[in-house]
Amino acid sequence: MRTLVTGGAGFLGSHLCERLLNDGHEVICLDTYFSGKRANIEHLFDHRNFEFIRHDIVEPILLEVDRIFNLACPASPVHYQYNPVKTIKTSVMGAINMLGLAKRVRARILLTSTSEVYGDPAEHPQTETYWGNVNPIGVRSCYDEGKRVAECLMMDYHRQNKVDIRIVRIFNTYGPRMAINDGRVVSNFCVAALRGEDLEIYGDGKQTRSFAYVDDIIDAIVRMMNQETHIGPINIGNPDEFTIDELASLAIELSGSSSKVVIKPPRPDDPIRRKPNIDLARKVLNWEPKTPLNLGLRKSIEHFREVLGLPHT
Ligand code: UDP
Repeated sequence: MRTLVTGGAGFLGSHLCERLLNDGHEVICLDTYFSGKRANIEHLFDHRNFEFIRHDIVEPILLEVDRIFNLACPASPVHYQYNPVKTIKTSVMGAINMLGLAKRVRARILLTSTSEVYGDPAEHPQTETYWGNVNPIGVRSCYDEGKRVAECLMMDYHRQNKVDIRIVRIFNTYGPRMAINDGRVVSNFCVAALRGEDLEIYGDGKQTRSFAYVDDIIDAIVRMMNQETHIGPINIGNPDEFTIDELASLAIELSGSSSKVVIKPPRPDDPIRRKPNIDLARKVLNWEPKTPLNLGLRKSIEHFREVLGLPHT
């Protein structure tokens, strides 16, 4: 199979490229290096089945491929709010360009959508049938609404043009290769704890998230692409729910740090609770996450230690 991965130099994308190469695919990786990094894929450059193209999917591109994994879009609030117009263009025009390509070359296309389509959810845990509670004009809208439009485009190309689609909704994900300046909570907390700096909690720390380890998520994405029966959307994430307070304590404990926690003002439109219902993924993909938070956090802390040039424990 010849496979295209957009956003292939990013945190998830680089793990996906690696997995696809190991599965014997030819991989074409597209990235702009906005939030992706050369360092994430450098070790793949010598692989005979790997090709990198520096390209922004906001512009069309014609490639002969059998499968398209459309991942490209900054996913950390800090990054996606840096240039919000660009963020929504990446989701919407990127989806149009990749769907146009899929239609033309008859490739199967998978969109990595997000739990953010549920907004600040009024239903808990979130099932795929829930339509969400999204602020259409807030600072998170460029990402949330961008992904919602991308999902809509996927469904309409499917209904109108019979494009073979798959949609996954990914919940909070963490693991090795997250950038130390990624800005999301796991990397912020681990890096602060390792540096002996304060961990900053936005708001009262009682908001919850459910954190999935990167390997589990990659496995689910590949399973979704490979099965024939279900187009999605399908939730993939780890249903173990933690408060941000609990995550901070765990990061401090596992990194053997004496850092303190400080309270900062809450972020606008910050969802209060988030936890996936993964019954559908269990049934359709025969999948559930295998990595508990304390194990995944240990592996992530090791990664951050290495990047920060700190000795291993
Ligand atoms: N958060 C925090 N401190 C940080 C980064 C994030 O308290 O340094 C909180 C944030 O307000 C949110 C949760 O952690 O409630 C998860 O934030 P993240 O940016 O990782 O992802 P989100 O799920 O909000 O997209």
